[in-house]
Amino acid sequence: MNERNSMPQNAIANGNNADIRTPVLIVGGGPIGLALAADLGRRRIETLLVEQRENKLNPAKMLEVSVRTMEFCRQLGIAGKVRNWGFPFDWPLDSVFVTDMRGYELGRICTPSLGEQAHIPSSPERGMPCPQTWFDPILQEHARSYPHVTLRHRVKLESFVQDPSGVTATLKDEQSGKTEAVRAQYLVGCDGFGSTVRQLLGIDIRGALHIDWAMTVYLRIPDLHLQHDKGKAFRYVFVGPEGTWSFLSIVDGKDLWRLQLVDLDEDRLHKADIAAMMRRGVGADVAYTIEHKDLWTRKSTVADRFMDGRVFLAGDAAHAHPPNGGLGMNTGIQDAFDLGWKLAAMLDGWGGDGLLDSYDTERRPASARATEASLRNYRRLISAAQRADIYSATPEGEAARHAIGEQMVEENQKSWHPVGIHLGYIYHPSPIIAPDGTPRPEDDTFGYAPTTFPGARAPHVWLAPGKSILDLFRNGFVLLNFSERPVDSIMRAAESRGVPLNVHRIASREAAALYERPLVLVRPDGHVAWRGDAEPADALDLIDTVRGAGPHIAARRATSSPS
Ligand SMILES: Cc1cc2nc3c(=O)[nH]c(=O)nc-3n(C[C@H](O)[C@H](O)[C@H](O)COP(=O)(O)OP(=O)(O)OC[C@H]3O[C@@H](n4cnc5c(N)ncnc54)[C@H](O)[C@@H]3O)c2cc1C
Repeated sequence: MNERNSMPQNAIANGNNADIRTPVLIVGGGPIGLALAADLGRRRIETLLVEQRENKLNPAKMLEVSVRTMEFCRQLGIAGKVRNWGFPFDWPLDSVFVTDMRGYELGRICTPSLGEQAHIPSSPERGMPCPQTWFDPILQEHARSYPHVTLRHRVKLESFVQDPSGVTATLKDEQSGKTEAVRAQYLVGCDGFGSTVRQLLGIDIRGALHIDWAMTVYLRIPDLHLQHDKGKAFRYVFVGPEGTWSFLSIVDGKDLWRLQLVDLDEDRLHKADIAAMMRRGVGADVAYTIEHKDLWTRKSTVADRFMDGRVFLAGDAAHAHPPNGGLGMNTGIQDAFDLGWKLAAMLDGWGGDGLLDSYDTERRPASARATEASLRNYRRLISAAQRADIYSATPEGEAARHAIGEQMVEENQKSWHPVGIHLGYIYHPSPIIAPDGTPRPEDDTFGYAPTTFPGARAPHVWLAPGKSILDLFRNGFVLLNFSERPVDSIMRAAESRGVPLNVHRIASREAAALYERPLVLVRPDGHVAWRGDAEPADALDLIDTVRGAGPHIAARRATSSPS
């Protein structure tokens, strides 16, 4: 590998004169950078995270934490904090389609309050309303709790150069104006859609860079539920003769609301008369104060590559979604989950040469799947048929409202809380997953059928009250043995390669049936790496495959490297 990427002429290459040295440098302190810092922290990896902004709270973009992100939080030990940050457990989470809040109800997707929801069968956790204003500080506090994780604010990445043994980055302290050189073994750009890291790497993004303009308005509205007859809900979707024109979502379960205006025209959004919009949505004058307004463009993009040598992209830097369906951050968290253990494996010395390449192979298709789903969610939301008679108090008007309501309910329940999009993604094909020759289960972004097909998320089952099988997947690999079969050769192979492996003998018949094979090897991120009826003939080959040093990886590298 030659030195490459943008760097001022006089910059320090090879890091000989670096001011700071760190194994991992994370650029960006949004939720993805923080999640990665926390994950590396628990894996005992020294990490420096730099964020250009001040350490202060911004209005919440993300409102909903997915079931899979909650499983990640469970691994970190912060799921309780995310559950109990303050959203009232008795607040109904319905989505209500209305002409206005005092007008016609077109349809309703009923979702019980947190207090009424039962456990879902597929996970020990469930999706949670936890806006970024609360979620990010929980992640940040957790990341900071590791003494070897350093978070620095008002520090901006300006440039970097990489060579075969590391990356040298130039950082600028925004307060003092001073620059400093940091030498890292790996750099991860979690620096959002406008990613400096991605631009410095010259990686293109594909997809729709501009779908439309949108405006988010954060409003304090005391006792809104007393001013209409539709009851408390998570969101109200406003539908007029022109179709869906806006929606209002509760942020804090008290009096903070978020109004989203959808329009193609930036100028019209700038001039939007919020008072008139609120009057139209509520159906009456209502007292409120505006806390914040945000104008943004809806996009749906995926980067051409998620990595280049020792530099990686994660979160919005790699893929940007229409926010509909709440997949943006939740998909990015899975990038961090996938990358964290792989970086740790390299730094701990047991990762093979091909391990990090699998980050791109695994996460790029998974992200593309989620961005496509987000776009579909958005189209469903705005697809309400345009009916001039929607307000009409006639049988025709009634029929129009009924038809629109039915359509919107049926379509949109595929968008909110579909377990399949979060739990159903399978890393297949992947160079570090050992296939077993069975056909890949059909991809379902809505429903979820548990499977141990290699590459799938290992399914949840309770082993004891409060103890999920997922709780076993924390640090190294886990070999689940649902039988009396010997596993000595896999254990010896792992030991000889320095791969951390815990073996668990599971007596539960329910778990054995769910896991489909007597032996299942699970990765540190909870995905199935291999399954079998008995130990493989060559256990060393298996262990080499899952640590990214399999014979096919070595062969591929040999043919692709210049002679
Ligand atoms: C209205 C709206 C609603 C949404 N709702 C949801 C939802 O419900 N669920 C969901 O999953 N997602 C949702 N999203 C998407 C979600 O907010 C994003 O996917 C998420 O914030 C991306 O996190 P990130 O860490 O990748 O990037 P960001 O949050 O953009 O963070 C990147 C950080 O990098 C910093 N940075 C940039 N360049 C540099 C540099 N050179 N040096 C140092 N620091 C730098 C920036 O200051 C920033 O703090 C929503 C988005 C919007 C707009």
